[in-house]
Amino acid sequence: MENLSDDEKVKRNMQRIAHKILVLSGKGGVGKSTVAVNLAIALALEGKRVGLLDVDFHGPSIPTLLHLEGRRPQATETGLLPILIQGGMKVMSLGFLLAKPEDAVIWRGPLKIHAIKQLLGDVEWGELDYLVIDFPPGTGDEPLTVAQTIPEADGAVVVTTPQDVSTIDVSKSVTFCRQLNIPVLGVIENMSGLICPHCSKVIDLFKQGGGEAMARRMEVPFLGRVPLDPQIVTSSDEGKPFIYYHQNTEAAAAFKRIVEPL
Ligand code: ADP
Repeated sequence: MENLSDDEKVKRNMQRIAHKILVLSGKGGVGKSTVAVNLAIALALEGKRVGLLDVDFHGPSIPTLLHLEGRRPQATETGLLPILIQGGMKVMSLGFLLAKPEDAVIWRGPLKIHAIKQLLGDVEWGELDYLVIDFPPGTGDEPLTVAQTIPEADGAVVVTTPQDVSTIDVSKSVTFCRQLNIPVLGVIENMSGLICPHCSKVIDLFKQGGGEAMARRMEVPFLGRVPLDPQIVTSSDEGKPFIYYHQNTEAAAAFKRIVEPL
């Protein structure tokens, strides 16, 4: 086996991935992981070779969202194999490596850095067009550690909900990216209006347009809105990726529009 350092392994692996996209949010619960999964699948549906990496120390939720709980990646002589799902997408989550999903919350910085380097350097991602990386929420130590360990990201998408408390957190995420020299690819306003299942009218549960206004104010692109769709909750709970199973919905169309410029 080659005798490469952790950093060399990360570099070698990352060189084979054309685009690395970070998915950030100023706080938890705004749909960051849901957006990461659906954007990754939207890219795969376009015929791209896609990997999805979950480094949310706070509670890796990708295994649940894709019904992959309890799966363990296979170890080979040269590294760890990501789990393949429908459409050939490769998935790796910190959750696959933990005995309990909450175990990593108590890890100190160096252990977190080691885990991220393993996920980037020891996983056999192969040649990919995109690696979508689901970040820990917020702008504290955890996302900072992750951002500093991932070399040469193309940029970040920042997920928010339309109401003020959440859009204020977006400005913190944008500032976070600027301080780390990570380009902001744009803001996504999630849970933007509820489409009434009975009359199809839009109900502005959390108002609309806050994310777009914040993107303008912070001079970053606005990538689009994803409406609130109760089917996102049920499909997430069932571990069935929403966009595969509900392709003819406004929310699925929104995810597909968002990945066009990426
Ligand atoms: P985060 O990663 O920001 O903590 P999650 O992706 O786990 O958030 O989403 C939080 C909850 O909101 C989940 O139950 C998810 O199914 C739901 N959710 C996310 N986006 C939407 C949406 N557009 N419509 C309806 N429910 C959503």
